[in-house]
Amino acid sequence: MSLYLSLFSRFIYIIGEITLIVLACIFCFTMLLVVLAWLSIHERKMYFPSFLKAGMVLVYGLVRVLFRIFGFEDNQIHIFFIQLHNTLNREAFEAIPVSERAIFLPQCLRSAQCPAHLTSEGLKCCHCGLCSIDYWLAVFECMGYRVFSVPGSSFIKRLAIKYRPRAAIGVGCISEVKKGLEMADKSGIISMGVIILKDGCVETLVLWEEVLEIANLGINPAYIPHKTQLS
Ligand code: SF4
Repeated sequence: MSLYLSLFSRFIYIIGEITLIVLACIFCFTMLLVVLAWLSIHERKMYFPSFLKAGMVLVYGLVRVLFRIFGFEDNQIHIFFIQLHNTLNREAFEAIPVSERAIFLPQCLRSAQCPAHLTSEGLKCCHCGLCSIDYWLAVFECMGYRVFSVPGSSFIKRLAIKYRPRAAIGVGCISEVKKGLEMADKSGIISMGVIILKDGCVETLVLWEEVLEIANLGINPAYIPHKTQLS
C-alpha cells in the first residue's frame, strides 16, 4: 500500500513539474512576442512578422494581458495587428494586377453637405468638389482600381461577391478595418488596412498619401497619374 502511495505521490510530483515547465515556457514565449511587438512598434519596423503573427494567434489572450501590463491600450494592440497584417500581405498584394483590386472607403469621409445618393454599389460621388474624395477617386480610378464608398461591412460583403476582387484596400476606423481584414482573410482576399485619422462617423479624415502608398504597390510608375493628368 505504501509503495502505491509513494508511486502516486511521485506521479503527482512529476505532473506538477511538467505543468510548471510548460507554464514557464508559455510565459517566456509570450514575453518574447511582446518584446518583439514592442520593438516593432517603437522602431516602426516589423521584426519576424510571420513568427509574430503565428505566435500571437497561439497565445492571444496572454499577449493582451502582457501588452496591458506594458502600458499599451486595446486600440494600440489592434493598430499593431493591422500593421502586422499589412506587412505580411504586402508581397502578395503587390503581385495582384490592379484590375483585380478594389478600394473600399467609408462614406463618412464625404462632406456633411454631400449631394451624392446612396445606391446598391455605395455612394455615387457626383464630383461636387466639397470633399477630398472628389480628387482621390479620380486618382485611384485612373490607376485602374474599382473604388467604392460604402456605409458598412454588409455592402463590402455584397460587392466582394459581385466583383470578386483578389486584393482590396479597406479604409475605416480601427474596429471596421479589423473586422474587414478578418472577413477578407476568410474569403481569400489579400487585404490591406488603413485607419482613418479622425473618426466620429461624420466628415472623418484619412491620410490619403498612406492609401496611395499602398495603392502604388506593385504598380508600374508609368501608370501612376500626376496632378496635371487629373485636372
Ligand atoms: S465630392 Fe463626391 S463624395 Fe465628396 S461631397 Fe461631393 S459628391 Fe459627396
